[in-house]
Amino acid sequence: MYYVDPSEVVKLTEVFGGEEATQVVKLLLEAPGLSDEELAERLGVDVKQVRKTLHKLLELSLVTYTVTYEKENGKRTFRWRLQLEQLVSTVRGQAIKIIERLKMLRDFYGSSVVYWCGKSSCRKLEFSAAVDHFFKCPSCGDPLQPFDPSEMLKSIDEKISELSKLLR
Ligand SMILES: [Zn+2]
Repeated sequence: MYYVDPSEVVKLTEVFGGEEATQVVKLLLEAPGLSDEELAERLGVDVKQVRKTLHKLLELSLVTYTVTYEKENGKRTFRWRLQLEQLVSTVRGQAIKIIERLKMLRDFYGSSVVYWCGKSSCRKLEFSAAVDHFFKCPSCGDPLQPFDPSEMLKSIDEKISELSKLLR
């Protein structure tokens, strides 16, 4: 067993699970044992949507549930809890993968010159591809310029150090 800092769990879930999963995890941290209906009510979203998120978390073994029956009407209620240890190790694994991908991206942009027309909707091209297209963007036809990656590298480094902090 190791100590799990709840704020760390929430931060790490944000990294890999997105908004919806994060909201559910936050609520279950505060109030373990909520039912899907109660979660939906507190989040102000459709219960079907909450169940989808819960099943995603369930597939990753991040949550577990117990079922209770009401004798009067036979209604089944699922009550949800976080599997904290599992959650931390899974999100850590995800964070490590993201860091590896960012490092590859950084290495690539740090060592190769790429060409770009400057439009966010258009691709960046490696030198040989830029030559093939006569330094004209294959999507929009604008001239291709060498892309200065320094801003991008800066934000990649920031992201890496942010994620690394979470892994300490
Ligand atoms: Zn273009």
